[in-house]
Amino acid sequence: MEVLCPLCRVPADRESLGCPSCREDLGVLFRLRYSARIDYNRALEALAAGDGALALGLLHRAVAAEPGLEPARELLESLSVSGPAGSASGSAPMASERDTPSE
Ligand SMILES: [Zn+2]
Repeated sequence: MEVLCPLCRVPADRESLGCPSCREDLGVLFRLRYSARIDYNRALEALAAGDGALALGLLHRAVAAEPGLEPARELLESLSVSGPAGSASGSAPMASERDTPSE
């Protein structure tokens, strides 16, 4: 994933966060582009600190900002399932196999 300078269409330099051609400061673009990952990382930290609610909020934001961010998506799903408000399993149908006597 790279950030292109909107003026020159060349990839920005990751270290200086600027355009190597026109030297425009592209730090804002980098922050926008990586905001989902930043939120995801903060969510991981929040989880480690035991703050599930904060982590959930950050993950929602991360997925909204970057729907293709699979790790955030998966973590969000697993949190949603095992969360306090989640009723994990619905009513399981009685699908036990019976010995139907066949002729
Ligand atoms: Zn440029």
